[in-house]
Amino acid sequence: MFGLGMNPGSIGSIPAEPVRSRCMARRPTSGRLIHRAPSGRLIFVRTAYRVRAYPDAEQAAVFNRTFGCVRLVRNKALAERRHRYQSEGKRTTYRETDAALTGWKRTEDLAFLSEVSSVPLQQTLRHQHTAFQNFFAGRTRYPRFKSRSGRQSAHYTRSAFRMRDGKLILARTSMPLELVWSFDQVNLATLDPTMVVVSREPDGRWYATFAVDTDDPEPPAATGHEAGVDLGLKDFLVTSDGDRVANPRHLERKARNLARHQRRLARCQRGSNNRRKAKTKVARAHRKVRNARQDFLHRTTTNLVRSADLIAIEDLAVKSMVRNRRLARAISDAGWGEFRRQLEYKAAHARRTLVVIDRWYPSSKTCSACGHVLTELKLSVRHWTCPDCRTRHDRDLNAARNILAAGRAVARGDSGDACGADVRRQGPSLPRSATKQEARTARCSA
Ligand SMILES: [Zn+2]
Repeated sequence: MFGLGMNPGSIGSIPAEPVRSRCMARRPTSGRLIHRAPSGRLIFVRTAYRVRAYPDAEQAAVFNRTFGCVRLVRNKALAERRHRYQSEGKRTTYRETDAALTGWKRTEDLAFLSEVSSVPLQQTLRHQHTAFQNFFAGRTRYPRFKSRSGRQSAHYTRSAFRMRDGKLILARTSMPLELVWSFDQVNLATLDPTMVVVSREPDGRWYATFAVDTDDPEPPAATGHEAGVDLGLKDFLVTSDGDRVANPRHLERKARNLARHQRRLARCQRGSNNRRKAKTKVARAHRKVRNARQDFLHRTTTNLVRSADLIAIEDLAVKSMVRNRRLARAISDAGWGEFRRQLEYKAAHARRTLVVIDRWYPSSKTCSACGHVLTELKLSVRHWTCPDCRTRHDRDLNAARNILAAGRAVARGDSGDACGADVRRQGPSLPRSATKQEARTARCSA
């Protein structure tokens, strides 16, 4: 499946917090160095194994009740946070939400919250707090209310589950949860997860996810290669070497199939049996689209991380572009956000350097040969000739080359002061186009 010297098929490994925050703290000028590991440093990586689970009736009842309580706690805390911020202009800490939870359990109306394990309830408040921190830092949108019809999950930390001989027993259940373990190289009996997530998808399937912290002493060998990546709609990506990865066709077909099921669902009468059946079909079609897209993205990001020591990408203004209706579908289908997420954790895992270039960097409009910047370049123009040096450019390849040049500049400027001046000082070794852009987009992130 998705090798990379990591556990095959592991789906969501994230670099553990300390590593990431240390890297983010030294934020260079016109780009962000997501990860750059000096050799020899120990990096802890969180890897997750997600498998199908088959709870019995008793367990399903416990989990469903837990999901309901998790949702209630999360939504209630969100409402109170929002109210407080709007009326008093005050932010809420995790401790305060946790104290509120204790208070709710003491009220008559919400006493039932004590009937489920307290761990998933506290975990959902922790996650919400992180979501708020991300929102206030400008990284994500405002946290939303959880819906009854979406994916449901409960996070159990070590105190809320037991593992014995490869059998998993979760809090408030008496029997081991039946699982289908599908990772041959990993022995469930010796697995030491820090967290277990039980989830139920809208199509009714159950999953258990095991989060494991591992240190990976052997990163893949350096390649001596660097790559700039331009993400697009026509091709999913073009690298600075001229490699193109097309958007997969089968994804399009599956998306059409999903749309068909959604139209059918819209025609069904509310509350009817047919509507219920149609809903399951939509959820199933959704899953197929999601799986196909994940598979495509995993292959693509793994290949990229394998191929280069330094990878430079653009920070796309996905949000503002999605508002443009005509492009909206194609962009959300392309899954750029997920692409970046995977690239981040895989680069961290493989000790590769990932540089994210600011989105206002005009990578398409700059000539990668001489640094000339066009005043305008329409989206429909696929090829252009530089008026300055007469080089004929392929739009995407030229952009990828500029992204690589800017990425190199950022990576080298990392050790210097926080201002763009440092990057410029290295002059001769830098491609001119990147140097120019540094001057243009430099800003101090004080
Ligand atoms: Zn030129």
